[in-house]
This record gives sequence, C-alpha cells and structure tokens, in this order.
Amino acid sequence: MRAEVANHIAIIGGGPAGLSAAKFLTEAGVTCKVFEATNRVGGKSESLQMGEYLIEMGTSYTTLEHKIVKKWLRDYKQPLSKLGEARFDGAKVVDFVKKGGGPSLPIQAIRFIRYIGDLRERLNKAVPDQKTLDEASMTVLDWIRERDLPKIELALYRLQTAQGYGRLDETAIGQTALWCTPKFIASGVLNRLNMPSEGWSRLWMKVAEEFEVELNSDVLMINRHEYGVEIVQSDRSETFDMVICAIPLDQFNALTDPTGAEDLVARSVQWTTYTTCLVSVENWFTDHRVSGLSAALAPGVEGGKMIGGRYEGFENDLGGHLYVTGQVSDGLTDPELREILDADISEQGARLKSVITQRSWRYFPRYEPDALRNGLLDVLRDMQGEQRTWYTGATFSHELVSSIVQFNARMSKTILAALKQSGR
Ligand SMILES: Cc1cc2nc3c(=O)[nH]c(=O)nc-3n(C[C@H](O)[C@H](O)[C@H](O)COP(=O)(O)OP(=O)(O)OC[C@H]3O[C@@H](n4cnc5c(N)ncnc54)[C@H](O)[C@@H]3O)c2cc1C
Repeated sequence: MRAEVANHIAIIGGGPAGLSAAKFLTEAGVTCKVFEATNRVGGKSESLQMGEYLIEMGTSYTTLEHKIVKKWLRDYKQPLSKLGEARFDGAKVVDFVKKGGGPSLPIQAIRFIRYIGDLRERLNKAVPDQKTLDEASMTVLDWIRERDLPKIELALYRLQTAQGYGRLDETAIGQTALWCTPKFIASGVLNRLNMPSEGWSRLWMKVAEEFEVELNSDVLMINRHEYGVEIVQSDRSETFDMVICAIPLDQFNALTDPTGAEDLVARSVQWTTYTTCLVSVENWFTDHRVSGLSAALAPGVEGGKMIGGRYEGFENDLGGHLYVTGQVSDGLTDPELREILDADISEQGARLKSVITQRSWRYFPRYEPDALRNGLLDVLRDMQGEQRTWYTGATFSHELVSSIVQFNARMSKTILAALKQSGR
C-alpha cells in the first residue's frame, strides 16, 4: 500500500549543509525534517567550553565570503571577534608570500585572479570544452609554475594546504578555481578573519530551532519510489516528497540503491582526514594568535606534520597556555599523531605538556584529476533532482561553510521551482 507523504522534504545530515538547506526552505514555506545520526547538530562545527575559553575544534573563521552566515549571526545576536595576528614561519603572511621570486605581489595577484577567474568562468559553463577540462585536471603546482607565479605559490600554502584543502602537487587546479575567489584570497592574505564569540555550535543550535530535527536518528534505508521517498528507521518509516543528501555520498549510497551518477561521484572523490588537538604547551608563542609552518605544507612532505597552532589563552587548571593544532592525518593513528606533534613542537623550542582533546574529521573531498578531465562537474550538476534527490555539502561546493551556504541558497530556489512544477 502506498504510504502517506508526511512532510515535504527529508534532509539526511544535521551539519552546516543540512541545517542551512532546511533554513532556506523553511523560510520559503516548505516543511523540512532533518535526520541527524549523533546527539548534536553542527557536524564539523564543534565549540567546546574549556574553563573561561570557548575552543573551536572544527569550523573556525568567517571570511569576506561568509556574507549570509554573518547576517544570520547578526539576526541571532551572535557577535564576531577579530582573529588577531597570523604569522607564517614567524613572519606576517604578506611578508612570507613576498619571499617568492618574480614580479611584485600586486602584479602576480592580479594575474592569478584573472587567470583563475577565467578558468572558473569556463568551468561554470553548462558544458565546458575539453581544453578547459584538460587544464582543470592539471595540478595546482604545475599550473602555477607554468604561469610563473612564485609568490602566489607561497600564498597558496596559506590559502589552500594550511586549510587542509590539499597539497599543491596533488590537487587539481579545476577544484581550487571553484572556491579560490578574490574575497577568499584577500581574507587569507590580509587576515580579514573573524570568529563567532559565542561559538559555531551556538549558531547551528539557533538555526535548528526553526524546523524539526531528529537527533540520534538511525536511518537504515532510503527507498526512492515514483510517489515519494521512504526513510526507514529501525522502528518506523516516513515518506517525503524529496530527500536532500547532506552527508558524504558514499555514506548515502550505503543506505539506498545508488544511481550510476551517485556511484561515479562517490568513486571520483578522495576524502582526507584532518586532526585537531587542544594542547597545553610550555614556551610557545603568546604574542600573536595563529602560527603557520611551511615545513608541513611543501610538496612531498610526509603526512601528519603540524601545520600550525592557534593560541587560545591561559587556563591554569588545564595546564597553562592552550593551543589548537592542525595535522593532515591520513592513515595515521591518534598516538602516532601525538608523537609527531610532540616532535614538531619541540622543534619550535617549546614543550608539549598534554593533549587535552583530539578530534579527527573526515574532511575535504579531493576530486580525482582524471574525473575532472572526464566531466565530473557536469555529473555533479546534472544529478541534482534525479530520483527525487538533491545533494549538498563539500563534494558539491567546497569544504567551507560560506560555499555550502551560498550553494544551498541557489539549490533551495531550484527545489522550490521543482516543487511548484510538480503542483505541491
Ligand atoms: C578543523 C576544521 C576547521 C574548519 N574551519 C573552517 C573555517 O574556518 N571556516 C569555514 O567556513 N569552514 C571551516 N571548516 C569546514 C566546515 O566545518 C565544513 O565545511 C562543514 O562543517 C561541512 O558541513 P556538512 O554539513 O557538509 O558536513 P558535516 O559538518 O560533516 O556534517 C554532516 C552531518 O551529517 C551527520 N551524519 C552523517 N551520517 C549520517 C547519517 N547516516 N544519518 C544522519 N546523519 C548523518 C553527521 O553526524 C554530521 O552532523 C572547518 C572544518 C574543520 C574540520
């Protein structure tokens, strides 16, 4: 017997992607229900209260690209605070970048913005030509060196690799072009970064008050029928008009009978792992906020090296000066990562006293260069709405809350049009 359609849209995943999609759709009058597998919303946004400090273990900064998010923060009366000085190998980021050779920084920056903007425009065409796709599949390093932009190569350590967005010798320029906008570049190089003073977790908790969220959900199966989408849990099933996948596609595919496109996309991205630790350290920097280390970012460097640290403050009960550190951690165990951290902090002339907490995140889905060459971006666009299913999150835009939210602003309009067309 055909089940009753209970709600308009089911959203799988209560991270920034699922919650922001639900917010846009709810504001447009569509009923949504978010299914979140854990006992909290926010996904990779996780703020921990440690003594008097609020520590961000995941999502940290807003950039000049976070316009919509900043509006939401204002609406919820959540203030922002400036990040404070960032240094790279001890120098101001802009001075570190100037150490690269070639023409002056403004000239290289203008050339880079023009070249990468042109590539982005060509890639965003409905059907990019093969020459564009071949260019898109080049590594960032080859592409930058072919255009003789050595200062930009150094800037991309900070803008890309230090954020966990892939090494320059492994990641395709076509993927970087999609998110590396002039506003993002200016935010990183000029340090125009802020943090929500009451934490990212608080923002998502506020957003989640606006629609139905089921925590600790145990979605076992997603059956897509001609009449609707059935979400099956251990003790019940509900049927919706449509479903939004706001979790990694390989995890979604395990819950359903995947289409050819779903299968292809899951095979075309390589998820990385990124580990953050809250640590107490003796004799490390306290006069600026963020320290980046280029030794961890150069092509060919072994995994796990400490990318840098963010100074959080002094808390006697937790062992003194507190920092959040970052490591790209694929294939390494937690104890191995702690050992590398210990050695890297010692190299800075400091001493790791204790690791207070450690989190490993499934992070940054890197597009396989060959998949880009073979038209992955077209597949990502064309699969939207097929089988009553819509897709959001880092694979479909970029591992940055601003990109995800901007993507969802557009996607929600397309969904509304689809609902209207189907007479709902
Ligand atoms: C260390 C770190 C620093 C970062 N810094 C920044 C920053 O400074 N600025 C910025 O904008 N972004 C930053 N990000 C990126 C940002 O946090 C992510 O892009 C964003 O969280 C991705 O949102 P998402 O909803 O796609 O995925 P996630 O945040 O991963 O959320 C997915 C959710 O789905 C849930 N889920 C998984 N499987 C199921 C299932 N079967 N059923 C139901 N629910 C399920 C998960 O529990 C989770 O809650 C950072 C991320 C990390 C890890």
